[in-house]
Amino acid sequence: MEMATARDRLVDSLVANEIITKQSTADAVRAVPRHEFVGADQQEQAYQDRPLPIGNDQTISAPHIVGQMLDLIAVEPGDRVLEIGTGCGYHAAVTAEVVGDGNVYSVEYDRELGEAARERLADLGYDVSVRIGDGRKGWPEHAPFDASYLTCAATEPPSAVLEQTATDGVVVGPFGAGRQELKRLSPQPDGTYESETIAPVRFVPMR
Ligand code: SAH
Repeated sequence: MEMATARDRLVDSLVANEIITKQSTADAVRAVPRHEFVGADQQEQAYQDRPLPIGNDQTISAPHIVGQMLDLIAVEPGDRVLEIGTGCGYHAAVTAEVVGDGNVYSVEYDRELGEAARERLADLGYDVSVRIGDGRKGWPEHAPFDASYLTCAATEPPSAVLEQTATDGVVVGPFGAGRQELKRLSPQPDGTYESETIAPVRFVPMR
């Protein structure tokens, strides 16, 4: 099957199952060539709804998770987004499809993965900024963000990420040690946050 056809079918099924509920999310997942983000040996599996290895013991999330998280951050064109855990750059590219060039800031701990993702994103025409470093610190120079999300599981939500997210914005990510839950957090002006649990999930742990 053609890659584009396989991708369309995947998106159609995620929409039919109400995993993706926003048109902008469906359009974004439809637009990004996931197979370009994985190794040659993984390309045939790129449009199955499952996580795939991306090297250095890390994985790219299943497409339904990426779609669900993009629905949850509820961003619009021009919004600025902080991503913790660039990995191969796929999720960042999907987010960039919605918010546009120059609006996604992504922090990756692993230098090798981060540099490869930076190059791949640029080659595919995505203007996403990638910093190599510890995502726990966020990216203060570009704060505040309209939304932030983590693609690796943190025991507790990193306070710097909460502080760098606007109080009318959200932080979405997998939280918890051992058993993880996908949560949507809403930072409050007094420094606390409200928390809503979405679903049990399994992500690679934050390093
Ligand atoms: N969104 C990614 C998924 C990456 S998997 C994609 O589409 O491919 C999670 C990533 O989080 C891994 O690349 C891992 O190296 C990174 N990570 C783990 N701990 C981190 C930390 N403290 N700061 C930044 N990135 C981290």
